[in-house]
Amino acid sequence: MAFHSVNPATGETVATYEEHDSAEVEARLARAREGFETWRTTPVEARAGALGRVADILDERSEEHARLVTLEMGKPLVEARAEIAKCARTCRYYAAEAARMLAPEEVPTEAARSYVTFDPLGPVLAVMPWNFPFWQVFRFAAPALAAGNVGLLKHASSTCGAALAIEEVFRLAGLPEAVFQTLLVRADAVADVIADDRVRAVTLTGSAPAGMSVAAAAGRALKKCVLELGGSDPFLVRADADVARTAAQAAAARAVNSGQSCIAAKRFIVAEAIAEAFTEALAGALAALPVGDPLAPETRIGPLARADLRTEVAHQVASSVAAGARLVSGGCSLPGPGFFYAPTVLAEVRPGMPAFDEEVFGPVAAVARARDDDDAVALANRSRFGLGASIWTRDLARAEAMAHRLETGIVFVNDIVRSDPRLPFGGVKRSGHGRELSHYGLREFVNIRSIVIA
Ligand code: NAP
Repeated sequence: MAFHSVNPATGETVATYEEHDSAEVEARLARAREGFETWRTTPVEARAGALGRVADILDERSEEHARLVTLEMGKPLVEARAEIAKCARTCRYYAAEAARMLAPEEVPTEAARSYVTFDPLGPVLAVMPWNFPFWQVFRFAAPALAAGNVGLLKHASSTCGAALAIEEVFRLAGLPEAVFQTLLVRADAVADVIADDRVRAVTLTGSAPAGMSVAAAAGRALKKCVLELGGSDPFLVRADADVARTAAQAAAARAVNSGQSCIAAKRFIVAEAIAEAFTEALAGALAALPVGDPLAPETRIGPLARADLRTEVAHQVASSVAAGARLVSGGCSLPGPGFFYAPTVLAEVRPGMPAFDEEVFGPVAAVARARDDDDAVALANRSRFGLGASIWTRDLARAEAMAHRLETGIVFVNDIVRSDPRLPFGGVKRSGHGRELSHYGLREFVNIRSIVIA
């Protein structure tokens, strides 16, 4: 069966890709295993150099790749360009840092010498989502390949064009074919690939149900598994925050990728004293962001990536309103072709409503009121997810004290949560386990080996 890439702005099919049959998958797995033996013994400086060339190609072909991303999944072109630039930056970061991160660590003991080495595991399967179709892949690939592993990518069914373009980038940079390969397969083929002896580990970025499936398959095969799953990040606003500035940042945080980002702020937990003013300012700031053709330079919010995703968002909003949330703005699909959904603000949102309990993957801001800091922290933690959080206040000491009580993997104070190759990225609870980026991410897919010379 073929894969179809559909332009979410028009609903038209833009490309069709043939699925790999079992013989092709077998050939790629065999190539990965064989190629690993050469790549693992390639000096880290040479692997780093290759990543530097990957970054150059990403820069050179940025416009072509950004347009492909926008056509396949609908994000505004301006964001697609930034995504490609971030991939190049991350490749350069690991090109510069990998040798230091992988250097053996001496550990004084009673032995004549004892030290720790960081050796690659082998072929690693990466199951990736459509929402940042380049970034999610490079976030895994740059450290994993720098460490001497080889990558096998099962990308989302809707972004096969991005998968093949990424594969081409690695080829053009002169990396051996075996080092990074795409598997054009369905989700139901993933468990068999994980079970294959040649595959040594798996990482998934995606939803909790997909995470459970992949973790179960990895568990059956006793293989290392990293999960980067969904989020319903709280955005905590204390009463001393600057309402206009914070509301503008809140709108920007919610609108990232047209609302389809795991670390987009989703639950706005606002001190009662300013809740009314903040909600109004947020609705105004969100309404001011131009919605439309994602290829147009002024567009800040594009369509949702698929028709079924829009249906789900509409259902979550309607159910929340039925449960007592107040619809402040939006709350409907936009007429015309494509999968557009109006930027929406819901007020009086409480636990028990889908807008609070679930991940809403669209431009929908849910505002809840908090009595005080303790109530704000309790509400923030009353979520199955635990990815990121942000706190907005003039009192930095109070913000840090609150940050330590939040059940999340990331906390930003007075800024929007974003990933940075220098900092570990990942969550707790249903947002997954393991870390990407920084040396923590690089060390997820290495054999941390103790060597003791008596
Ligand atoms: P998804 O449906 O879980 O798909 C993600 C990937 O997993 C796709 O390649 C998909 O393949 C595959 N997949 C789906 N079900 C599977 C299964 N049972 N077994 C094996 N593979 C399976 O997620 P999505 O809708 O594409 O992406 C949105 C989700 O990703 C959101 O929850 C978002 O928060 C999360 N996300 C998390 C992060 C993070 O860093 N924490 C970053 C971005 C996105 P098919 O496309 O072929 O179904």
